[in-house]
Amino acid sequence: MNAARRRGPRDRSPRAVHARARRILARLKRQPRHARVELDHATPFELLVATILSAQCTDERVNRVTPGLFAAYPDVAALARASPARLESLIRPTGFYRSKAQRLIECSRALVERWGGVVPKTMDALTELPGIGRKTANVILGACAGVPSIVVDTHVKRVSARLHLTRQTDPVKIEFDLRAAWPERDWTEGSQRMLLHGRYVCLARTPRCEVCALYDDCEWERKRVRRC
Ligand code: SF4
Repeated sequence: MNAARRRGPRDRSPRAVHARARRILARLKRQPRHARVELDHATPFELLVATILSAQCTDERVNRVTPGLFAAYPDVAALARASPARLESLIRPTGFYRSKAQRLIECSRALVERWGGVVPKTMDALTELPGIGRKTANVILGACAGVPSIVVDTHVKRVSARLHLTRQTDPVKIEFDLRAAWPERDWTEGSQRMLLHGRYVCLARTPRCEVCALYDDCEWERKRVRRC
């Protein structure tokens, strides 16, 4: 391993980082995988609920829980009136079910009271709802409102750090670093593709560097050496 590899990229100027970020974006966009949210949903409200449930839980597990949940509570008003005990039993497999049930009920009540049961389409309105942070708001805005949005979840955080696209650890600061590096029209697709790259290729414990399309642009000092 040479010295440059140990330290990461030599040129850390914003210009160099942005150029690399755009190269990486172009490579991600050439990947065959669809850049879509993998939480099953039919409406913005269902996506809001599924995103709340996805905290500390896989999308796959959330997708096993939501059909029963949406059958029991088909709309915002129904969930706003839910009994905590019944709701908790339905969402228990997603973990942290007591706090998630509380968030779902409080958020649904606020949606009914403030927005007539309709999920709003601005960052300010979404983040004023109880239990809704910037990440969840960005998921809704990008997938349901057509607003360019960068979702920084655990995968985007890890991949952007390994690729030296940010020095930040705070998700909001990472979001703004990626906003500065990518054209606005690519924010939603770029972050979704980066998220999927982290979920399926640049895995937390054992990244699959041997099949990684970003290998040539990755200067992570611990990336696994590709063998022919
Ligand atoms: S080369 Fe390895 S560490 Fe680098 S982005 Fe690809 S999978 Fe992740």
